[in-house]
Amino acid sequence: MKGKLLYKLLMGFLLVALISTVVLDFGIRRILQHSLERETERTVLQKTRLFSQSLTNLSGQGLSDFVKKQAVAADARITVIDNTGKVMADSDAQPSTMENHATRPEFAAALHGKTGIATRQSVTTGERYLYVAIPGNTKQGAVRLAYPLSAMENSIRGVEINLFLATLIAALLTCVLAATISSDFARRTRELAALAQRIAAGDFSARSTDANRDELTQLAESLNSMASKLESSFAEMRKTEIIRRDFIANVSHELRTPLTSIQGYLETLQSSAQLSTQDHEYLGIIEKNAARMARLTQDLLALAQMESGERYFTMEVVSAAELIKNVEQSLRPAVLSRGSELIVDEIAPRAVKADADAIHQVFSNLIENALKYGPARSPIVMGAREVEGGIRFHVRDAGEGIAPEHRDRIFERFYRADKSRSSDSGGMGLGLAIAKHIVVAHGGSIGVSSDPGQGSMFFFILHLA
Ligand code: ADP
Repeated sequence: MKGKLLYKLLMGFLLVALISTVVLDFGIRRILQHSLERETERTVLQKTRLFSQSLTNLSGQGLSDFVKKQAVAADARITVIDNTGKVMADSDAQPSTMENHATRPEFAAALHGKTGIATRQSVTTGERYLYVAIPGNTKQGAVRLAYPLSAMENSIRGVEINLFLATLIAALLTCVLAATISSDFARRTRELAALAQRIAAGDFSARSTDANRDELTQLAESLNSMASKLESSFAEMRKTEIIRRDFIANVSHELRTPLTSIQGYLETLQSSAQLSTQDHEYLGIIEKNAARMARLTQDLLALAQMESGERYFTMEVVSAAELIKNVEQSLRPAVLSRGSELIVDEIAPRAVKADADAIHQVFSNLIENALKYGPARSPIVMGAREVEGGIRFHVRDAGEGIAPEHRDRIFERFYRADKSRSSDSGGMGLGLAIAKHIVVAHGGSIGVSSDPGQGSMFFFILHLA
């Protein structure tokens, strides 16, 4: 991920540089070749004309000597033919050994009174030549100058090599430049991405310090302003949250003393001798409700303490089997007294790091729910299984199950999926919230899997010690 943007930018730069230099090189080479060819043609034509004019009515050895001398001066090969195409003189070869030249394209044109120009490989010398032929004067049919093209081709090659070297240097410079610009751009983009990630992760104090001024600055400024807006609204939210939590904690705390007092007097009253059966019944109802209120205030206080971080956990290394055994022993009587049964189906031998009392509380809340929401007299199954990176504890019932739309929300405080049933059974929607708090404080996770009508399986995962 890290170098991907840099790599793309760099490749983009290089591709553009490469294409433009290739196009440029190709264009320059074509223009150069074209103009060199035109120039050479012009010069050779001029020399041919000059030679033709200087040619008097020579023939035989005289003509041959003159042709050789002029060829040296013009730095070209010179050939003279008569009207029939027969070679009369040639600066480089013996005329008698040469075939009739009337059909050579440049001579053919010249014999028709025109200027003939052609480029080809010479049969006589094997080299590539530019041939320029023009009509001769009375005695000669036509004269021709042949100019070797190797010189022109060499100079084009020289330019090509220079162009190639220049391209290479330009490419190297582009590389360095592109690398600098791209890596700077990529680094800044990476920094902004990291900033966005920090904000997304809830660190609203994060700000960009990018001092450049361009399009990325706008992005940085938007991120900064978003972060500060989030920061202030979050602070506001936290304040309200603290007020709410303190209120709950205070109220439940204040309720404890009168509740204890009510329960104390109840006990005294119940032990009094002059009570009728009906009195006992009413007192029993008052006692049940007082107990329920006591439980609720206890839950509220526990949650408030956990949320404000006042509840400390004492972590120790404890085996999953031991946790399960303790829970089973201490909760079995309560489960049996309500006509159900507690079954352990699986035990993982390895240890976790946990606050045993807190985990006991988690199990107790889950088993309490299984009793409340499961069918009467059906067994509750609990156990522990080793999974990747931890131990997964579970509590299963054979109840109605939980509809998908409630599954995520039942762990919120005061959330009840089935309000009528749950308050019948005395719930206030705190048990799972408390369980989740404890598990999360252990670095673990909690969840439920449930098919409606098939019961629910609550589970939580703790890391191995
Ligand atoms: P409550 O005090 O209402 O039981 P909890 O936080 O323990 O609060 O549970 C929240 C809600 O989740 C309950 O009101 C109930 O609707 C649902 N729930 C919890 N456990 C079970 C279960 N074992 N089977 C079905 N529903 C459950």
